[in-house]
Amino acid sequence: MPTTADVCVIGLGAMGSAAAKHCAARGARVIGIEMFGRAHGQGSSGGRTRVIRLSYFEHPDYVPLLRRAWTLWRALEEESGAHLLARTGGIYMGPPDGELVPGARRSAETHGLVHELLDAAEIHRRHPPLVPDPSWVGIAEAEAGVLAAERCIEAHLRAAERAGAVFHFGKRVDRWRVDGDGFAVETAGTTYAASSLVITAGPWIAELVPSLAPLLRVEQVPLFWFDPTAPVSRLPVWIAETADGGYYGFPQDEHGLKVARHGPADLERVRAFVRRHLPVADGALRSTHTCLYTSTPDGHFVIERREDRVVYASPCSGHGFKFSTVVGEILADLALDGVTAHPIGFLSAARFTS
Ligand SMILES: Cc1cc2nc3c(=O)[nH]c(=O)nc-3n(C[C@H](O)[C@H](O)[C@H](O)COP(=O)(O)OP(=O)(O)OC[C@H]3O[C@@H](n4cnc5c(N)ncnc54)[C@H](O)[C@@H]3O)c2cc1C
Repeated sequence: MPTTADVCVIGLGAMGSAAAKHCAARGARVIGIEMFGRAHGQGSSGGRTRVIRLSYFEHPDYVPLLRRAWTLWRALEEESGAHLLARTGGIYMGPPDGELVPGARRSAETHGLVHELLDAAEIHRRHPPLVPDPSWVGIAEAEAGVLAAERCIEAHLRAAERAGAVFHFGKRVDRWRVDGDGFAVETAGTTYAASSLVITAGPWIAELVPSLAPLLRVEQVPLFWFDPTAPVSRLPVWIAETADGGYYGFPQDEHGLKVARHGPADLERVRAFVRRHLPVADGALRSTHTCLYTSTPDGHFVIERREDRVVYASPCSGHGFKFSTVVGEILADLALDGVTAHPIGFLSAARFTS
């Protein structure tokens, strides 16, 4: 197995698998090192499904990245033959003066995204399982859907391998250092040498990039799958802003109806939401899965190429998965060219010190 490469990627979850794919596709020799197995569920990317949406309430600056991500997911589907993205449409509902609906509307209007503004009665008429508070409003958009999380990671890994990337699973990186013009990356027993280093260690990233430690908070966040109590008519992906925080969910699949809170919550808390706003999901709990959320103080990502040329991405705060294709492209730009044309200035860690 080679121990020298053009690019070494540490961590092969959502972001690292995509970075490896984009670097390898451009002809770089890539080594990827991952402490667990392929598309495992122990980090931030487990739990089968992730929402993708364009009218991004978090900030309009994400929209160009989302458009590119959507294009790249479709290209990856074509290339891999795997079904990765199901377009279901999306509904984002909450108080008219809250964060969610005005934020989604601002992104949609700023970027000319097709959307509709609905009142609570219309949301319920279109999607009878959803029961918004009467004072709520909602944004509906067609360009939203569900990504099959583990399949997405596996598709990126395989595409990278087809382009020559070499992966080492079950190997933990203990440390790395700048070594001459490149980097040395140490695991128990092996030191790898690479011209460029990409660190995509998800919830563990602060162990390898200690300057991030003061910025990041890691929490365990559970996902729940419920048996429906009655046949469920077709649902879009949905988000609800409530006095108890954000909740979101997915159309029914073979595992049941998946519902989660944007942040830690126990079963009773999620059930209380379900009883009020999605009563058809108040059946038996079929399964749960806990993932790690890594949050920054402002909820936005951190993606950078530092002065020492190390490139890292912590696209986290509970909403990064949908971006992983385009983040992979950005990381390949930064690792191989030193710059990217993608508009990522708003994601620099410098915003926390300036
Ligand atoms: C419950 C939950 C729900 C979410 N829902 C959504 C959603 O609906 N839509 C959305 O877009 N996003 C969502 N997100 C966010 C999204 O899943 C994350 O942003 C994304 O998975 C982060 O990917 P990552 O590559 O940074 O981390 P990971 O996928 O965890 O990858 C990091 C990898 O690095 C490896 N690693 C770490 N340290 C080392 C080391 N020292 N040596 C070797 N390997 C190492 C780990 O084993 C891991 O495989 C959600 C997150 C959670 C937790």
